[in-house]
Amino acid sequence: MKCIVNGTVLLENGAFDNLAVVFDEKIEKICDAKRLDLSEYEVIDANGKFVSPGLLDMHIHGYLGFDVSDGNEDDIKKMAEGIVKNGVTAWCPTTMTVSKAEIEKAFDAVRTLKNSQEYYGARILGVNSEGPFINAAKKGAQAEEHILKPDADFVKKHKDIVKLFTVAPEVDGAKECIESVCKDTDVLISMGHTNATYEEARKGVESGVRHTTHLFNAMTPLSHRSPGAVGAALSCPDVSCELIADTFHVDKGLFGMVAKLKGDKLCLITDCVRAGGMPDGDYTLGGQPLKKEGIKCLMPDGTIAGSVLKLNEAVYNLWENSDLELYQAVKCASLNPAKALGEDDENGSIKEGKRADIIIADDKFNVLMTILGGEIRYKGE
Ligand SMILES: [Zn+2]
Repeated sequence: MKCIVNGTVLLENGAFDNLAVVFDEKIEKICDAKRLDLSEYEVIDANGKFVSPGLLDMHIHGYLGFDVSDGNEDDIKKMAEGIVKNGVTAWCPTTMTVSKAEIEKAFDAVRTLKNSQEYYGARILGVNSEGPFINAAKKGAQAEEHILKPDADFVKKHKDIVKLFTVAPEVDGAKECIESVCKDTDVLISMGHTNATYEEARKGVESGVRHTTHLFNAMTPLSHRSPGAVGAALSCPDVSCELIADTFHVDKGLFGMVAKLKGDKLCLITDCVRAGGMPDGDYTLGGQPLKKEGIKCLMPDGTIAGSVLKLNEAVYNLWENSDLELYQAVKCASLNPAKALGEDDENGSIKEGKRADIIIADDKFNVLMTILGGEIRYKGE
């Protein structure tokens, strides 16, 4: 049995010093460190740093030169291993709007890995299918030729592996698709890459939309006479919102306001692409060229093409640019997405009975150690 002591432990309801976290594969107990006989445990000294739940990235396409949409199992394994260094302990490999055959190949690869129960890195919860049921007017970096009319049967066919998918609620066939998927599955329905008016987005929510794909990006903006999809997402209390908190996709001046409005419905994501964790240079996204320069990824015409954000950096950016306490910023990248996905029984917080997915991070939220299911899987300098 292991035990972490001497850190500031970030729980669901606050940050606490003097606590010990005792765990095997699961978290056994959280108690006053003074009441434990430490000689009975394998002790991990947090050295005054933060002891945080492992992070959950529900929207990530690629990392370290690999891309989920390539449909290659080994690549997805390497991504799972790579993101552990960023404190990510659970994730949803995310597909792009590529051809249906390529999407299904990627689903199959993720399905095989998930069902194998093999242990290689951050745990796969299921696929995030971004598109192909989107609006060409807000395609962003998604390939227009592969956009399809919303099709509930496609989602239902893959409901064993798809955790969430993006649909533009205003396009032809979307209402029927949303209602049918909502009735027959637990798949989370997200509005995104959408040209919906405020009213159309609200109708989507009435039909069953409960999530928003990267709030602000690739959707109708909020203005005072036309609140758009952004206005609908912010004003519907049942709808969770993804945010790419890299300070480039969304200005940091909005982070605190969005956090106040959405509370425990705010989910930090990376939307990271193949170029993530790699040097500046030329890469591709969904078969299209992109250039990475610092925190920016742009297509030749200047379209923003995903990010190279790391989820621990997103937590720090939100914390730094809002009134949130660190434990609250961490929740936006752990418990909130776990709840949105219906995966919070085992994931998302340091709590007795949950999986021992724990990270130790410094005051810039750099990850120093990642523990996955009770085992140390990453240790920095
Ligand atoms: Zn994306």
